[in-house]
Amino acid sequence: MAFKDIFQWIRQKKKPAIICLNFLAEGIDSLKTGNWKFRFKPKEKKRLSPCQEIFNLLMDELEAILSPIVEEKKEQEAVLDQIGEAIAILNQDGQIMKTNKSFRQLYNFIPVEGKYIWQIVRSTDFQELFFEWSKQRKRNESEIYINQKPYLVRLFSIASAVGETKEQKIIVIFKDIRAEKNLEIIKKELVANISHELRTPLTAIKGYLETLEEENLREEAKTYISIIKNNVERLERIIRDLLILSELESRRELQEKEEVNLAEIANRVINQFEEAAKRKNLFLRLEVSPSLPVIVGDAFRLEQMFINLIDNAIKYTDKGGVIIHLEAKEKEILIKLEDTGIGIAPEHLDRIFERFYVVDRSRSRRLGGTGLGLSIVKHIVLLHGGKIKVESREGIGTTFFISLPLQ
Ligand code: ADP
Repeated sequence: MAFKDIFQWIRQKKKPAIICLNFLAEGIDSLKTGNWKFRFKPKEKKRLSPCQEIFNLLMDELEAILSPIVEEKKEQEAVLDQIGEAIAILNQDGQIMKTNKSFRQLYNFIPVEGKYIWQIVRSTDFQELFFEWSKQRKRNESEIYINQKPYLVRLFSIASAVGETKEQKIIVIFKDIRAEKNLEIIKKELVANISHELRTPLTAIKGYLETLEEENLREEAKTYISIIKNNVERLERIIRDLLILSELESRRELQEKEEVNLAEIANRVINQFEEAAKRKNLFLRLEVSPSLPVIVGDAFRLEQMFINLIDNAIKYTDKGGVIIHLEAKEKEILIKLEDTGIGIAPEHLDRIFERFYVVDRSRSRRLGGTGLGLSIVKHIVLLHGGKIKVESREGIGTTFFISLPLQ
């Protein structure tokens, strides 16, 4: 029977609606139990009522439309579950809508659906990343620790249509980076060992060069010796900085902790650099806001931080000078180091804290740089639980902002 005949029959019947509704209720009940295959079957040689036939026809149509979608959904879930990375799909408010097997495993199969992601991923680094990304969409990945294991977390959003309205969904991916971290540790240990081993022969070479310098040599030979000595000294600086970096990187927290007066340290470092600044006709000024509290930290490392920053500021400034400003804010001390130097172009700003990253290699070399100074500074700040950022304009100057927590 075709649809139009069935409708004809319903119209002719006296109480078609009630009969039909009863049949439909029966059919819908079976649908509710997930039985998409339910169809009315004729009983004891009786024919199906047109209403039952309508239901059967509708179900055939629906099945034809929906079964590929259901199959696709099942396939997608199977694929998601096969992925090693833990994945959570959130609605735009941050509520978990779906997770894959790896995510459920990571959280010991506790029920997570409907919860907000930050109620489940209880890491301050994650929460910082999530809220920062939700507001500004800038940084979308970060390394976090879950159960003391390192993960690289990445966030992105996709637009999806829910009925009439368009909605953003948030995808969170957690990649287990233990293997990469271990490799990184091995590499760092290798660098530290090589640097250590190179120190002794270099000291010997330098010693012999100094002995040779005292000999009565031809001018040409003297020039060669001076070039060799410059290069040996450069190697020594690189090795010194690499050893400092590996020492800093091998720790997750400070070894030495004492009460430190930052103004005193900054003043001491400024005195060390006064001569160098005078030679370039630069001013070097320290501004300290009244009653600056002490912080708990490693005085030696903090001195190193000021040395590297002030050394750079003088190296990369040809006129004007450098101002170091120290100020206490609620729970932190803010250090501002401002110079009127050559500045750094925007495309380099994000990378200058990387090991060996230099903007102008020949200039850095000429000025005795190793490309490791700012990496060291960043590690010292991080070990103190602080933050560092930089702002710069080419030809105008560069300002480093450091905040160190008081506790
Ligand atoms: P380097 O030993 O080359 O100075 P750093 O790690 O200390 O290495 O700094 C990395 C690079 O950042 C430098 O080569 C330089 O290009 C840039 N830089 C650092 N500080 C400043 C500054 N105050 N002004 C301009 N450029 C700077």
